[in-house]
Amino acid sequence: MSKDWKTRTKLVHEGIRRSQYGEMAEALFLTQGFVYPSAEAAEARFLSSGDDEFIYARYGNPTTRMFEDRIAAIEGTEDAFACASGMAAINGALTCLVKAGDHIVAARQMFGSCLHVLKVLQGFGVGVTLVDGTKLDEWRAAMTPATKVCFFESVSNPGLEVIDIKGVSEIAHANGAVVVVDNVFSSPIFSNAVELGADIIAYSTTKHIDGGGRALGGVVCGTKEYIRGPLETYVKHTGGAMSPFHAWIMLSGMQTLDLRVRAQATNAAMVASAAAGHEKLARAIYPGLVDHPQHTLAMEQMGSGGTMVCVDLKGGKAAAFRFLNALKVISISNNLGDAKSIATHPATTTHKNLSEEERALINITPGMVRISMGIEDGSDLVADVLQALDAA
Ligand SMILES: *Cc1c(COP(=O)(O)O)cnc(C)c1O
Repeated sequence: MSKDWKTRTKLVHEGIRRSQYGEMAEALFLTQGFVYPSAEAAEARFLSSGDDEFIYARYGNPTTRMFEDRIAAIEGTEDAFACASGMAAINGALTCLVKAGDHIVAARQMFGSCLHVLKVLQGFGVGVTLVDGTKLDEWRAAMTPATKVCFFESVSNPGLEVIDIKGVSEIAHANGAVVVVDNVFSSPIFSNAVELGADIIAYSTTKHIDGGGRALGGVVCGTKEYIRGPLETYVKHTGGAMSPFHAWIMLSGMQTLDLRVRAQATNAAMVASAAAGHEKLARAIYPGLVDHPQHTLAMEQMGSGGTMVCVDLKGGKAAAFRFLNALKVISISNNLGDAKSIATHPATTTHKNLSEEERALINITPGMVRISMGIEDGSDLVADVLQALDAA
């Protein structure tokens, strides 16, 4: 396909592999296996398989490969590997890079399951140091000769703290470490992670890529050497590959990704500015607001404030619950990036396993509600949030 195509063109055309029938839409090859014309052909394929030769869906599949090619083209990496979930992607991306005695530095503003993966690695003798990801000095101080990987979410879940991809990459590379970025909150639409120095991008496609809250998925993007080397070897032998059916859903989601994410970001900016300064709020948190601590960085790094807004209610948990229960358009759930707007109370759901102190350390207060903005009409969302704030 053409390198000159813009994102929206790539999102609908990139990676298409048409069968002999010339089908218009991406075909769903719902097959785990492939037939070889002879025993010699089977032997040859196991020895080395070409771009359009497949063995088993845990290793690769034509529908999955279409999705991998499309997402690599959007992120600007040489290759990608599709995984069963965001966590399969992040587990694979990190685990295939380290062995006992190696060291990982990671931002402590982190999704709980990612923290669990690091704990498992620690059990196998990998050193882990957690730092405040927004402070470059802490990254620098944590590096050791054994540091192999620096890992962080470029926009943290749920606190919406923005971490400097370029700054961390410079520190990591000066120490010979590799940078793995979970870019799920920026989505590929606002991602310049490769340009800014990240080596590997790994995230959940369950969120903005599906966009309809239907299927689990994840992806790891990087160089061909890494993706078809250690990453594929690890994921295919440990069972983390994406189902062809889910790849087919993701391909259809990608066609509207740019339209949706931009509409969601516009809605997020509208809701954040309407809510900012409301008497019931301690804070409206949105990287697109000028009072956000990393506003300038967010604009440089993403060119947008993104699709997520947090409101921190002065009245704590009780007020947050009154707010959630008063919402009419926005649903109480825990996915994000969906076409439908979703509100979550992190302290009692997604981040309930952390202690009060651990939550405080990453700015998760009892009054905080995270809202993933959907593609509904922005004025309906503003009205919904404002009436729910009044009711809180
Ligand atoms: C959702 C999410 C994940 C995990 O993705 P799954 O598809 O649910 O496995 C990892 N990191 C972040 C920041 C997420 O928001």
